[in-house]
Amino acid sequence: MAEEKRDYYEVLGVSKTATDDELKKAYRKLAKQYHPDLNPGDKEAEKKFKEANEAYEVLSDSTKRARYDQFGHAGVDPNYGAGGPGAGGFGGFGGFDMGDLGDIFEGFFGGGFGSSRRANPNAPRRGGDLQTSCTISFFEACKGVKREISIQRMESCPDCYGSGSEPGHDAQTCPDCHGTGQVRVTQRTPLGSMTSSRPCSRCGGKGKIITNPCKKCNGNGRIRVTKKIEVSIPAGIDDGQTLAVRGQGDSGINGGPAGDLHVTVTVRPDTLFKRDGYDIWCEIPLTYMQAALGDELTVPTIDGKVKYTIPEGTQPGTVFRLRGKGVQNLNGRGRGDQYVEVTVEVPKGLSKAQKEALKNFDKLLTDEKQYTKRKGFFDKVKEMFE
Ligand SMILES: [Zn+2]
Ligand SMILES: [Zn+2]
Repeated sequence: MAEEKRDYYEVLGVSKTATDDELKKAYRKLAKQYHPDLNPGDKEAEKKFKEANEAYEVLSDSTKRARYDQFGHAGVDPNYGAGGPGAGGFGGFGGFDMGDLGDIFEGFFGGGFGSSRRANPNAPRRGGDLQTSCTISFFEACKGVKREISIQRMESCPDCYGSGSEPGHDAQTCPDCHGTGQVRVTQRTPLGSMTSSRPCSRCGGKGKIITNPCKKCNGNGRIRVTKKIEVSIPAGIDDGQTLAVRGQGDSGINGGPAGDLHVTVTVRPDTLFKRDGYDIWCEIPLTYMQAALGDELTVPTIDGKVKYTIPEGTQPGTVFRLRGKGVQNLNGRGRGDQYVEVTVEVPKGLSKAQKEALKNFDKLLTDEKQYTKRKGFFDKVKEMFE
């Protein structure tokens, strides 16, 4: 159900025979009194303001006022009541538009009433950020590398130094706004004639008009150039990480700072090494004999080869750690570790003689303790099925 609405004449505090001028006067008084910008957070004032606005909108329109006088609220508001004479048939009763009123009040009170401030086209603006990518090797990511990257960016025009005017021809002061970039606009509003400032459309608010545009940049002041930039990719960068190179994006406007260049780094996978954070993993396949007898292994690291001795009876899947042989930490000191996992490769395609030798050797393995895992496994199986 619609809320009980107050009589529009009552809202404005005028008689039913009030003239247009009396209505306007009453409305202006209320609108100033209850404007939301003068009563921040005051719900009651906001409600009164809307109420006054709605009342004035209807009563200031002679057609709507006539319908209202005849049918009451139902005559002008399709949402009011059910099946009234005006229900559904009275379009055009617009909703309350804060945006328009904000503009009116900005002009009336000299600005500062919450409506959006227009950006000054002469204010310094930061240049845009640029995105690019590059691919480096696993080792380059571990050690850091310098890369020359080709990018396209906007730079201040070298011919006109960013002014946009052909050298020797200064921009002219805009005749419409006399260089201020703003023009006064007089509007008729429910509150009377009001003057407000608007950005000058002739010069786009810049206050100047370029009469002889620079041929190189077509008057834009900036041109697109292809530039080679040396980027230092720090040691420790990982696949998919993005590096910000300060000040290498588009140049700024009106003396604003340049944007940044963002470089997303792809690291090609390595066949020997895998990365896990700052740790490096590698896998070394051993022969059956090396695993059984132990051996001095040559282990590859990103610093070169190192020796590592594995003991007799090293089992497949054993992982040993080389402390500090991982990747340099990106943001500070220290390095990760290198983990080496050993596997045992079973020989394939044995000759008859090799098979005989292996069988003979196996016959010598009579002590169960030499196969502790197997013993444990078969003991468990026995337990389960007996
Ligand atoms: Zn130029
Ligand atoms: Zn102008």
